[in-house]
Amino acid sequence: MSVIEELGLPPLPEPLPRPVIDNHTHLDSTREYSGLGVDDNLRLAREVGVTRVIEVGCDVPGARFAVDLAGRDPQVRAAVALHPNDAARAFLRGGEEELQRQLAQIEALVGDPVVVAVGETGLDHYRTREPEGREAQERAFRAHIRWANAADKTLMIHDRDAHGEILRVVDDEGVPRRMVMHCFSGDADFARRCLERGSYLSFPGVVTFGSAENLREAAAVTPIERILVETDAPYLTPKPCRGKANAAYLLPHTVRFLADLLDVDLAQFCDQIVANTFAAYGRWGQDA
Ligand SMILES: [Zn+2]
Repeated sequence: MSVIEELGLPPLPEPLPRPVIDNHTHLDSTREYSGLGVDDNLRLAREVGVTRVIEVGCDVPGARFAVDLAGRDPQVRAAVALHPNDAARAFLRGGEEELQRQLAQIEALVGDPVVVAVGETGLDHYRTREPEGREAQERAFRAHIRWANAADKTLMIHDRDAHGEILRVVDDEGVPRRMVMHCFSGDADFARRCLERGSYLSFPGVVTFGSAENLREAAAVTPIERILVETDAPYLTPKPCRGKANAAYLLPHTVRFLADLLDVDLAQFCDQIVANTFAAYGRWGQDA
């Protein structure tokens, strides 16, 4: 029995004709959520052409995990941050001192050569409703932007129900040289405003959902060299596996969907994603 059958996970998609990169995944959360171990996760991903990933650590243990893993596996790179909801939680539970303590622990990791991005950081007005929680998020977001700018690392932004606020803070702190809207969730107009600031837009499996016409319109106005794809696993599983646990090996569904939507040759689109990901984060790893 394969690990996929054992854990009741979606079947392997048809392999892609060329390698691609998942620029935003959570291997540690996937292991907790579905039981799929990190090695199996990366092996299955490779089998279908997802040969490299960025592991995103959202709290202090997660960020350390990401740096450790990337240090051991040349196909993996790390992004580190205190996630906006974790920043709000730290403040609401332990006050400013606790928030600053956790931020300092993340900051200590930013300079590691395996860290290619500061993120996911930003604002989450969906999950965090308390005004003091939102203010703590903004303080944390500003700190992350400064680290990214000081260390010349890519800024990976989490934006949930906070489009205008995100741009206000980024403009105020100084638009980073390289910026990615992770899990882009706006419409064509917001896409243009992010693109004006030089941002890449990273599309998750949500783009395959029937309700996500806004994302398809956004993708349609985005120059192809600004498009990235991600799983954000274990969340946001693409069609036709929606409702089951996501993992890096399910990225091909989203890649195929976007190639189709944008009417580009699939192999060319895969190569474009790799080129875009390297432009956004720098180059790493190698093809088998
Ligand atoms: Zn994420």
